[in-house]
Amino acid sequence: MNPAKRRTVIAGNWKMNFTPAQAREFIANVTPLVAGKDNCDIIFCAPYVTIAAAMEAAEGTNIKIGAENVHFAPKGAYTGEVSAEMLRAIGVEYVIVGHSERRQYFAETDETVNLRTKAALAAGMKVILCLGEVKEQRLAGITDEVVGMQTKLDLAGISAEELKNVIIAYEPVWAIGTGLTATPEQAEETCAVIRNVLADLYGAEVAETVTIQYGGSMNDANAAELLAKPNVDGGLIGGASLVPEKFAAIVNAAQ
Ligand code: PEP
Repeated sequence: MNPAKRRTVIAGNWKMNFTPAQAREFIANVTPLVAGKDNCDIIFCAPYVTIAAAMEAAEGTNIKIGAENVHFAPKGAYTGEVSAEMLRAIGVEYVIVGHSERRQYFAETDETVNLRTKAALAAGMKVILCLGEVKEQRLAGITDEVVGMQTKLDLAGISAEELKNVIIAYEPVWAIGTGLTATPEQAEETCAVIRNVLADLYGAEVAETVTIQYGGSMNDANAAELLAKPNVDGGLIGGASLVPEKFAAIVNAAQ
């Protein structure tokens, strides 16, 4: 983290977990554990049908609720999808775009990730843009090229002004939901590579202001070491975001 230069962001990704009632209960339990922990932004990204209940439960707390995806079209024949305007209409401020599970199971590409990012930004939302290499790419020694290319393609056509509303989540796909975590050195090295690419695209001064999270089995036991790295500005957390005590411990590590 480098709080002097950029905001630390600890975000949970609930994935396909929590009914509205379960989300209310979770927020009630986690709220006292993270109250007053103002050195980072705290966000939970929820399934569409759970967002309203979670927002209601989080009202007046330091917890913000986001969505897990957004479609790129303003409206139309896209059965099952939700537009940026719809999310804004219910007060959603943050949205995850490009999660590896969306890329892997729902055929999302850098092109559609870029379109979704643009749609969310145009609607006034903040985007948590996920990217990262798969295991074979890391083993082949092409991680830097892969994350560099994703950064360029996913941000194509996005201005420096718009970039202020983008958080990048570096998530090595081999570490998501597997219990395998990148070492703090690996996380730092790749987050720094992404920042260098941002510097090429937008200039060093702008690049220094962008929050780059690490995601991939971050938990209460490894968060402090990961967050101690200067280019790791927070975490995107799946499994551990479903357990109030584990999530709160990560927030504590960011204080
Ligand atoms: C994620 O879903 O973005 C994630 C990092 O999951 P986990 O923490 O479970 O690896």
